Amino acid sequence: MTDYNINGLAIPLFIVLMTLEYLFLRFQGNTLHRYNDSVASISMGLCLLISDALLKAYTFAAFVYLWQHHRLFDFEIQEPITWLIFFVALDLCYYGFHRVAHEINVLWGAHVGHHQSEEYNLTTALRQSAFQYGFSWVFYLPLAILGCPPSVFLVLFILLKVYQFWLHTQVIQRIPMIEGIFSTPSSHRVHHAKNPIYIDRNYGGTLVIWDRLFGTWQPELINQPCHYGTTRPLDTLNPIKANFQHWLMLGKDSVHTSLWRNKIGLWFQPTGWRPEDCRDNGARHSTLQKTGTTEREKYDPQVSTRIKIYCGLSFACIVIVSVMFIFMAPSLRGVTLAMGSMIIVYGLVVVNDFMEGHKRLALMELVRVPLTLWFATSMI
Ligand SMILES: [Zn+2]
Repeated sequence: MTDYNINGLAIPLFIVLMTLEYLFLRFQGNTLHRYNDSVASISMGLCLLISDALLKAYTFAAFVYLWQHHRLFDFEIQEPITWLIFFVALDLCYYGFHRVAHEINVLWGAHVGHHQSEEYNLTTALRQSAFQYGFSWVFYLPLAILGCPPSVFLVLFILLKVYQFWLHTQVIQRIPMIEGIFSTPSSHRVHHAKNPIYIDRNYGGTLVIWDRLFGTWQPELINQPCHYGTTRPLDTLNPIKANFQHWLMLGKDSVHTSLWRNKIGLWFQPTGWRPEDCRDNGARHSTLQKTGTTEREKYDPQVSTRIKIYCGLSFACIVIVSVMFIFMAPSLRGVTLAMGSMIIVYGLVVVNDFMEGHKRLALMELVRVPLTLWFATSMI
């Protein structure tokens, strides 16, 4: 039997919901979307889904192995208590992963992509670092040892991810009764804000009781409107640069610093820590996530309508090819997977490069466009 990755089918659904949010806001006379920001965010989401399609089978195999050979307890899948226990336990694991992803330099590099958008709407939900799943899966392994049946884990994990999608909107205001218990758009807006008072707050996935228990809870304040993005500006739409921005800075510091213990140690220091002899390099970037700021112009390069239309059409084609590719990934050969990933990611780089106003990759379109079409038809 041929395997398929149903993640691919979620993309069209998410696009419909994002369009509805956009139309709703337009109807109200609000503009909380920027064309280039939305394209960049969805590009990041596609990069994540591609890396997920390549990685997930192996990481889930580790979970299944631990459950089969080293579990401490047996839980029945048909017992409601099994679902309740592991819903709460999985949410706690998510809190743990999310908190260290913010607090440790090297791990922040694998999560920062989700926070780089200076807008906040449903497209932000798709904007994820491509390498986050490369380490986050480790945080769920204790569940396998506790005896969480793999099928229960998979269902709960998907529900957690789906639940988080609707949190990324400004359409829904505070929701009485559940604020402070469940994660809501209001509590998650705080998580994405770079106002000093909101930095590194509200890590909860479905529940925010963990934030209240562990001292990271902060409600949204009426007199403190959220300003979104990271303290260190990204200043690009390029999804590759976005994914490596923080690690690149750590790498440069690692080379530059004279103390050997700092060359390795800085990767595991709290986020924002830099060696003494690196702090003057690019003073603009010397303060990171811990400081917080609300005063900064958004990165918003302007291009002609013609370029916007070309980018829109190219992007729509790439999304269609990506949906096919991610859906069919489990049945594709290694060489096809590698080639497809490169063609799609390169296409995303080109579109975002054009949206920044560059023309340096224009000639290469004569190769990229036919190659993408050929690849799409070869998958059918
Ligand atoms: Zn986060």
